[in-house]
Formats: sequence, structure tokens, C-alpha cells
Amino acid sequence: MKVLKFGGTSVGSSKNINQVISILDNYSKNDTIICTVSAVGGITDKLLLAGKQAQNKDTQFIETYNTIKTIHYTIIDELNPNKSTPIKAYVEEKLEALKSLLDGIYLINELSPKTSDKLVSFGELLSSYIIAETMKNRNLSADRKNAQDLIVTNANFTKAEVDYSTTNKNIADYFKAAPQHITIIPGFISKSADGEQTTLGRGGSDFTAAIVAAALKVDQLEIWTDVSGMYTTNPKLVKQAYPIASISYQEAMELSHFGAKVLYPPTVQPVLDLNIPIHIKNTLEPEAIGTVISNEKSPASSPVKGISNINNIALLTLQGSGMIGIPGFSKRLFETLSQEKINVILITQASSEHSICIGIDISDAENAKTAIDAIFENEIALHKIDPIIVETGLSIIALVGDNMKNHQGISGKMFSSLGKNNINIRAIAQGASEKNISAVILESDVKKALNTLHEQFFETKTKQLNVFITGVGNVGEKLVEQIKQQKQYLKDNLKINLRVIGLSNSRNMVFNEDGIDLKSWKEQLAQGETASLDGFFEKTKALNLRNSIFVDVTANKEVANLYASYLRQSIGVVACNKIACSSEYENYSLLKRLSLKYNAPFLFETNVGAGLPVIDTLNNLVASGDKIMSVQAVLSGSLNFVFNNFNDTTKFYDVVKQAAAEGYTEPDPRIDLSGVDVARKILILARESGVEMNLEDIENTPFLSESGLKSDTVDNFYETLINDEAHYQGLYASAKAKGCQLKYVAQFNSGKASVGLQEVPEGHPFYNLEGKDNIVMFYTQRYPEQPMIIKGAGAGADVTASGLFADIIRIGND
Ligand code: ADP
Ligand code: ASP
Ligand code: MG
Repeated sequence: MKVLKFGGTSVGSSKNINQVISILDNYSKNDTIICTVSAVGGITDKLLLAGKQAQNKDTQFIETYNTIKTIHYTIIDELNPNKSTPIKAYVEEKLEALKSLLDGIYLINELSPKTSDKLVSFGELLSSYIIAETMKNRNLSADRKNAQDLIVTNANFTKAEVDYSTTNKNIADYFKAAPQHITIIPGFISKSADGEQTTLGRGGSDFTAAIVAAALKVDQLEIWTDVSGMYTTNPKLVKQAYPIASISYQEAMELSHFGAKVLYPPTVQPVLDLNIPIHIKNTLEPEAIGTVISNEKSPASSPVKGISNINNIALLTLQGSGMIGIPGFSKRLFETLSQEKINVILITQASSEHSICIGIDISDAENAKTAIDAIFENEIALHKIDPIIVETGLSIIALVGDNMKNHQGISGKMFSSLGKNNINIRAIAQGASEKNISAVILESDVKKALNTLHEQFFETKTKQLNVFITGVGNVGEKLVEQIKQQKQYLKDNLKINLRVIGLSNSRNMVFNEDGIDLKSWKEQLAQGETASLDGFFEKTKALNLRNSIFVDVTANKEVANLYASYLRQSIGVVACNKIACSSEYENYSLLKRLSLKYNAPFLFETNVGAGLPVIDTLNNLVASGDKIMSVQAVLSGSLNFVFNNFNDTTKFYDVVKQAAAEGYTEPDPRIDLSGVDVARKILILARESGVEMNLEDIENTPFLSESGLKSDTVDNFYETLINDEAHYQGLYASAKAKGCQLKYVAQFNSGKASVGLQEVPEGHPFYNLEGKDNIVMFYTQRYPEQPMIIKGAGAGADVTASGLFADIIRIGND
């Protein structure tokens, strides 16, 4: 004899019911089968909705009722296409009764728990009847037995308690004589000793099956549902979750108690003592092995078996100095909650005894507050304690595992990884048995928390980075292409799962929570929604993914102004945009502080020397205790290109034009040629060396002609280059006469910085600097005479993109 249970989705459509029938048919070939079924998927919710609507005098209840009716009729017709079956007559009668009940609720404006149970019972009564009769129509040896004739409970409506001795006897007696091979039993529903309809609590069909399995002492109980077992965590919220092959009764109970909906928590009770294993299987994928819940010791595996969550939690805090050292407070508190039939999900008490925190379902919060404030009325009036504090919008997440007690550092890991992702913890509880550690967090953080913890405890091998790139122009495009090319390498070699979640250019933006397929990112972006900077931020924030990184590949001030907002959401910022780091010192240091406070990296290596590791090297020198004495550098790839190509056979205008055409200058070449861009770079190096400095503090000796300096548009500026050729040739001639090269040099020395064109003599490290190369020389306490030199291409889309990429990987390696 076998007991099976099929849940709402499993009997949610004619297609799925056919699948159920075929599974049962197969099983019944060599065994007697008892099968508990839920209501058709979604019907219990709809019945309750109709009830609420009727109670609230909302005539919409008729529409809801009609939907319920249609769903059932469609299933009957699809299952029995060629039969004028008597099923409909029964169903019609039941639906009429349902309609009368709803009319009654509408009339008296009231929906008591007792009526509610009557109402929801229709769901299972209908589904079980339809399935059993369809099987009979197909000549299977099947019959339906109403659980209300078997399972006897008290009158605790909506979550009744079972009278096992009567129930067990009823079940044993019935099956002694039942002739059919397959018995279909409605789950969830029962009757009180007085004959009132009761239910076993939402999700209770699992429990019905367990009650029957235990009463008949069968060998195995199978729970068939819409997922392939009990997963490491909620598979709807964590894509990487996977089914647990075997798990202990205790672990299953803890996981389900803390929200793993796949199993109704009381289900384990009846089968536990009899040692009947529960096998969870997937109706939609019967070949999957599923999960076995039993007493068998599972082979040594991760100490954490699963992670679960319960939403809709309210946290009650009772606190006050009058509680310290005075016994009886908790007793009165819990007695009150028990009298109000309020289920306590989590309790924590600070060792100071100054406060007690209790997690309950939000629907009980109002009742709880009224009752507790009333019971402590005197103490509150005497200011010994405060009125109870109620916080809502919360969830509980719990780590579960029998083996956790034998491993140290699990809670440390749990809280530090949550902390790193800026998930605020409101309360913590750890069972003395150490089978579970639970924490109360904001409901809006649940998905992120589960993914973070799952990565920490079940996917130790890879770290997921979620990247949002703004400004996919020249450099941005290269970055996306590099990511596409290296994705697999990063996974295999650095254990980094790098996903691009958001992309934006100035016109469009596109998001995909599962990662944009980079093979067709251009098409997807072209079809994306209209771009907006705030929209991009809001969407990134709303997705609330762990290890999120915002990448700014623009040169836009408005984008830079948003860094603080990103950092405050614990979203890392990687920028090649120099504006933020060279803005007012207050802003730069604010961003640095936010980065520390919110644990969100802020990296901008490409601000200086494109892909060259200038800032990283500087940071490493400072972090390891070295002191920067001076920095000498050629930091403008564009100016170096210009002065390397400019001589008495070329024209200054042509060379600048060429530099612009090759993408070596900013769109406005004045930013490069006026020295502002270089000044920004040396400013950033000075600041990163620990000096508080602003752009105005940098001495800038211009080399442009008077009219070039005064030009008010880019076109005007180019015109001055043509007109003032003699001025520029003069600069060249002067250098040449001394055997020098013209180099645009940035210096930082004893707290002072300057930029300007210099005549560099032969033998100087700058003299032979070619093309668009940059060079930086760090003179430090440890490198006093021979500087540390970094040299190489300092401009270009490819190297800038790879510098951005390096920053992203730096975050991944953290
Ligand atoms: P049924 O209607 O078959 O009883 P339920 O909806 O009650 O099914 O339970 C199955 C659902 O439980 C899954 O679809 C999944 O969304 C949810 N769930 C939550 N946590 C877990 C978990 N740890 N493992 C498997 N499923 C889970
Ligand atoms: N139909 C009931 C519910 O939705 C019982 C169950 O499906 O287990 O809660
Ligand atoms: Mg269920």
C-alpha cells in the first residue's frame, strides 16, 4: 500500500491531471494506492477572495465565483470530451451550494472562520470528485472517499487539530474493506466531532496524506508537487538552487517551519515516529529523483542543508527598564499571545533582559499589540515598560542543517556576507540545538539575501558580479566585447560569474535580471526603452542584486553626480569618467566615505593613464606604508601624440585634427590642449597620495596662443590653430635649438602640483616617450633616487576598456 499526494499545480489543468492519472495507473498495477489531492491550483485563494469580496459587499464576488465555475467546467470537459458524464450534475450541485453560501456571506456581511472553512472545502471536494470520476470513466478501479468522514478534529477552524485515535481508527476501518485499487481522498479538509467542516491549515493536503500514511503504517509517503524536491532554497527566488537528495526529518521540519512551502510543516509529525520516509517528487518531471526525507544519515555534505524564508513578518518589541530582573514578564507575554491564538515564529531576548523581540505573522500584529498593551497597561502607565513596538515589512531568513553544530564560524559567515551586501539585520535567533540560525531582515532584501547566502554556502566556487554599464559608445562597446570574450575564462580560472544586467547609451537602455545575452546585446539595446539616468539608477536599485557594479563609461557630469546615490545602495562604482574624482574635494572625499560605509567599491583606475595600473600601484604603495615624495608624469596621451608628431614639416592644426580623428582627444580638444585634463589627472594622483587639494590649487602654465585660450567654440578654436601656426612653430624651434623635446609634464611635489609644456633634454626618461604613451614616475620614501616607473599606452578605447575591466575583476577578487 502506498500513499501519494498531488498538489494544486499537479491537478491544476486537464493536462496535469492526465499526468497524475497515468502515474496512479502505473503504480496501481502492483499495489493498492491511496491518493490525496489538493484543490485545483489557485482555487483555494479564489474561494477566499470571493468570500472576502462578498463580506465586503463587493459584487465582484460573482465574477470570482464564475471564474471558479469556468475553471472546473473546462477541466471536466477536457478530461471527458466524449461523455455526457454525471460528474457535471454533482459539480453543479456543489457549485450551487457554493453560490448560496457566498450569497449568504454577502447578505450578512460576515465571514467567520467557521464559514471560511465551509467555503474553502469546496475546492478539495470538487477536485477529488472530478479526478476519481474521470478515472472511473476510464475503467480504472478507483473511488473517492471524503476525508471529512475519516479525519476528525477539534473545532479550531482554519487550522484544526487532529483527534488521532478516532481518525486512525476511521482510516484503518475504511481501508480494511475498501475494494477499489485507487482511492482518491480530498486533502486539507476534515470535520469536527460535532460534524462541522474544518480544515487543517493552508497547504494542509500534505498533512492529510501523512495522517493517512501513518494510520495505515505504509512503507512510503510520496508528495508530488511542481518542483523536483526540496531545494537548497526557494527555487523561485534563487536560480542556482538545486534539489537536496536526502534530508532528515528535523531538517525538513525546520526548513518548512521557516517557509519552505514545498512541505506543510506539520506533515512530518505523524510519520516521524513510524519512520515512514517522505519522498518529494515532481509531477511535471517524474523521472527527476526528488528528495527523500527520512532518518537515514545523509552522506557528509555541507553543514548547511538549506536556506528558507518567511515573508509578511511583524516584529514586536517589548522593552523597558522595569523588565530587568523581574520575573514573569515573558510568561505574561506568551500567555497573552497563546490566548489570542497567535503563532510565535521567532523569539529573541537580549541578555540584559531589557527587551524581548517576537516575530509573528503580520496578520496577527494588530491583535497582538492590542492584547499585549492591555495586559501591561499598569506597567506602561508607570513607565516601567514602553507600549509594544510593532515593525512591519519584514521577513525571516533561516539557515538549517543538523550538522551546523559541529562546524564553527557559520553564523560569522552568514552575517558577514549579509553585511557586505548591506543587508540590515533587525533580530537574530539561534536554536539551542543549533539546527537553525535565523535573522529578521527587510522583506525587500529577501531575494538578495537568499542569493548571497546561497552563493556563500552552496556555490562557494563562484562569485557572481552583476554589472550595469552606462555609456556604451566607443570604449563601452569595447568593454562589453571584452567581457563577452572573457566570460568563460573568468568562470573557469577566477571563479567569477560576470553578468551584464543593464546597458545604456544616450538613447536606449535595456535590462535583463538573468544577464543580457551578449551575443545580441546591440540588437537588444537598440530595442530597449528610452534611456534616462534616473531611470537607470532606479531600475538598478530596484533589482537589488548582490555584488552590483555601476560602470560609468561617459564623460558626463550628470552621471558622475549619481555616484553617491549608487554607493548608498551598496552598488559599487567603476568609472573612467574623471569628473567626480576631480570635482570639489568635499565631493571626492564624500564618495570615498560612502564607499567605505556602504561596503561598495569605488574604483577609477582609468582616470589616469587609461589601462595602466597607476592608481592601483599608488594605492598599494600608500597602503603598504610608503610615502609619496613626488610624482613626475606625462599623463596626456593626446598631448604626447600631438607633440611627437608636430615639427617644422607639419602643421599644428593638422596634427591636432589627426589626434581628434583617432579618438585620442576629448570631443572638445581644448580640454586636452588647455591642460585641464592633465591637471585633473595629477589632482587625482595627489588626492590618492593623501593630499587635500582642489583644481584651482594646480599651477597651469598655458602654451596655447592668446586667441586660442579665448576661443569660445570648438570651431573657433580650430581656426586659431591655423592662424597662430607661427606661435606653435616658435615653441618647437625653441626646443629644437636646445636639443630638447616638447613634453606636457605634470608634477606633484611637497604638496604642490603644476602642469605645463616643458623642453625635455636628451637622457631624461621623458625624452624618448613615443606615440600616445604615458609615463609616471613615483619618487617615494622607498624609491628615493630611482623612481618607480609605469609606462605604456595611455589612451585608446581598447586599453581604457581593459582598465575598466580590471577594476571590475578587482571587485570580483575581493
Ligand atoms: P503544492 O501545490 O504542490 O502543494 P506548493 O506551492 O505548496 O505546492 O509548494 C511548492 C512550491 O514551494 C514550489 O513551487 C516553490 O515555489 C516553493 N518553495 C519554497 N521553498 C522551497 C524549497 N526550499 N524547495 C522547493 N520548493 C520551495
Ligand atoms: N488547497 C489548500 C491550499 O491551497 C491545501 C493544499 O493545497 O495543500 O492551501
Ligand atoms: Mg503545498
